[in-house]
Amino acid sequence: MKANSLQDLYLEQLRDLYDAEHQIIKALPKLIDAAQSERLKDALTEHLDVTKEQASRIEQIFDTRGEKPRAERCKGMQGIIQEGDDLIGGIKDPNVRDAAIIASAQRVEHYEMAGYGTARNYADLLDENEASQLLQETLDEEKEADETLTDLSEEINVEAEEEGGSEGAEEATEERRSSSSKKSRESRSKKSRAA
Ligand code: FE
Ligand code: ZN
Ligand code: FE
Repeated sequence: MKANSLQDLYLEQLRDLYDAEHQIIKALPKLIDAAQSERLKDALTEHLDVTKEQASRIEQIFDTRGEKPRAERCKGMQGIIQEGDDLIGGIKDPNVRDAAIIASAQRVEHYEMAGYGTARNYADLLDENEASQLLQETLDEEKEADETLTDLSEEINVEAEEEGGSEGAEEATEERRSSSSKKSRESRSKKSRAA
């Protein structure tokens, strides 16, 4: 579609987001199956429910305009999901796989945040107040999902780093855990001193 006005751009963005949400609804069950961590599984399952709600918000926006919701292929999301599939499919270690699931899911969330931020801004400029509110709600949910994933990564990425090489005794794992978090604390404070 050729966009000749901000209104056209706005509708194009909504159709793109509508398609993106549907791609995510299709992709999430596979990630939930692939995840080992119960907390990660739960977070993804919850976001699947949230995502269905988000798709229906876009339908609501089109309904209010007296239009049928139309999806336009979101090639960006297609690429992000494909890349995640390729990455996750080749990983045997369950902790490393969980880390990869988080990496891929956070790319999805950030891409969505960019799209919803733009669409909400257009809705404001076009005085579509109800739509603006709905889009803001979704934007907030995407940010929340991203934060949840960051929280999970703080535990899961450390486990992935530990499991990456050898399988030592519990004690050795404990030791590595404390030294690796010490290492990252040190490098973080080094960085902040350098800044
Ligand atoms: Fe979404
Ligand atoms: Zn797109
Ligand atoms: Fe999302």
